[in-house]
Amino acid sequence: MIIYKTEEEIELMRQAALVVSKTLGEIAKILKPGVTGLELDKVAYEHIKDLGAEPGFLGLYDFPNTLCISPNAQVVHGIPNDKPYQEGDIVSVDCGAILNGFYGDHAYTFEVGEVKPEVKKLLEVTKECLDIGIEATRVGNRIGDIGWAIQNHAEKHGYGIVRELVGHGIGKTMHEDPQVPNYGKRGRGKKIKNGLTIAIEPMINMGTEKINQLPDGWTILTGDNKPSAHFEHDVAVVDGKAIKLSTFDYIEDALSKK
Ligand code: MG
Ligand code: MG
Repeated sequence: MIIYKTEEEIELMRQAALVVSKTLGEIAKILKPGVTGLELDKVAYEHIKDLGAEPGFLGLYDFPNTLCISPNAQVVHGIPNDKPYQEGDIVSVDCGAILNGFYGDHAYTFEVGEVKPEVKKLLEVTKECLDIGIEATRVGNRIGDIGWAIQNHAEKHGYGIVRELVGHGIGKTMHEDPQVPNYGKRGRGKKIKNGLTIAIEPMINMGTEKINQLPDGWTILTGDNKPSAHFEHDVAVVDGKAIKLSTFDYIEDALSKK
């Protein structure tokens, strides 16, 4: 059952999403060759607490950390560890927070130093997929139109779209109805209505769409070990169209000063 939100609830959700946006901004400031996932995780935990919020992932389904950190061929759900990042890596950082009783959940794939042009392209296209998905999130469309738009753009570039993991409704719980796949058929699925709040999160692989899971029970990686990118925003449908509750402004501001 989809839980539609009032404008007041959407405003509370924006504040929760902004905790995550600001936390990812802190990550952007410090991520460089030599830094480890555990260091990033600690910074994220402390920043979320400083903002008067609670980490959204820590303990959720028994996840052990504040951040999901998935470098290179890892798609999502990577567990932070003490292996330093290297020049040329890409690192997908997914973060959740709870404020005002609502969840925020978003993700960004960072470049560590100089990355190969074909990897840069994967990141650019995945971010474009996110924007295109948000654009398709409007009254008059259905959930399938979001996935179709994302799939169409990714496949134009020959990329693989992960099928097993999808975007989702978000609110007082992290994962609510509806599921929001990154693939789909036009005109299919639930109608999009005002008050819908969803996390849109394309997970796009440079090669095969196939994925594997590591024995840790969490980490998802690509079937061919080629890189994967992940960008995620929380959006709400207001006056017929999607508005972003989260923002990459803090990240982009930090990256521009590097
Ligand atoms: Mg997420
Ligand atoms: Mg999500």
